[in-house]
Amino acid sequence: MIEAKYFRRYKDDTVICELCPHYCKIEPEKTGLCRARKNIYGILYSLNYGQAVSVNVDPIEKKPLYHFFPGDKILSLGPNSCNLKCSFCQNYTISQTEVGTTEITPETLLKLTKIHFCNFVAFTYTEPTTWFEYVLDASKFLQENGVKTVMITNGYINPKPLKELLPYISAWNIDLKAIHDYFYVKNCSGTLEPVLKTIKTIAKKSHLEITNLIIPGENDSGSEIIDLVDFIADINPNIPLHISRYFPSYKMKKPPTPLKTLYFARDIAQKKLNYVYLGNIDNENKTFCPSCGKLLVERGHETVINVINGKCPICNTEIYGNFA
Ligand code: SF4
Repeated sequence: MIEAKYFRRYKDDTVICELCPHYCKIEPEKTGLCRARKNIYGILYSLNYGQAVSVNVDPIEKKPLYHFFPGDKILSLGPNSCNLKCSFCQNYTISQTEVGTTEITPETLLKLTKIHFCNFVAFTYTEPTTWFEYVLDASKFLQENGVKTVMITNGYINPKPLKELLPYISAWNIDLKAIHDYFYVKNCSGTLEPVLKTIKTIAKKSHLEITNLIIPGENDSGSEIIDLVDFIADINPNIPLHISRYFPSYKMKKPPTPLKTLYFARDIAQKKLNYVYLGNIDNENKTFCPSCGKLLVERGHETVINVINGKCPICNTEIYGNFA
């Protein structure tokens, strides 16, 4: 447990947490909505600093990150908390309930990367924003030691802490759950605008990929998909979009997304975005050059990369991402 960054204290020892757009008002001895921050005598503490619920070595594509060192592996870990309450959470057993944790200091994390021959660490699975102080310390330390870090996040973070974190995170995947605010209010206990702001900020500074989980009857209409794609294309049509298949989980009992809906969404997205992938289905998800159509990355049992110095070897088009 360490003192949290980004909070304001009042005379009656109540605090306002300023880490994420919820701005939880927290009375003494109480925790915020994410359960990761507690007010103790007027000081806000991060309760889960270095406490991990899950530590694994994954393919980097599983994050998903398709344009960031494809075929590499990544040490992945996450905290036992989240600052959204999505009714369809695919990881609710570790994000929304009390579960046991293991302490992983930044030094231990570095040792684990050496043991597993990993050049990358992902803060993922639940919501790493609620691990802010740990992610910041660990990322600085790992960067000094030649290890790159990535965040797999809902993007629900305030601009100031995001600005502090940005120089130490090499790549991001942001879960843009829908393009309409009512979806966030109804299904996630959050709001859309801060997520859009985070995406715009990160797109200017870092490698960014976006995931959109399509849920039948909630965010699968043609007009919603068009709006979401337009938002991304206006920022940068090279940002890879991962359209992901929903399966029933937590409080959401609707049947899985029909495959035809995913193909429909992909067809819409491909009209404006250069790199569109389908997730949570059996698919080879190859990367093609958006200019000449050359097969650039083949993902399967082995990953074959045909990107030379960041460019298509046939037509010299620059390909978004890092392929070295
Ligand atoms: S980080 Fe947690 S405590 Fe802080 S405002 Fe967000 S939900 Fe509330």
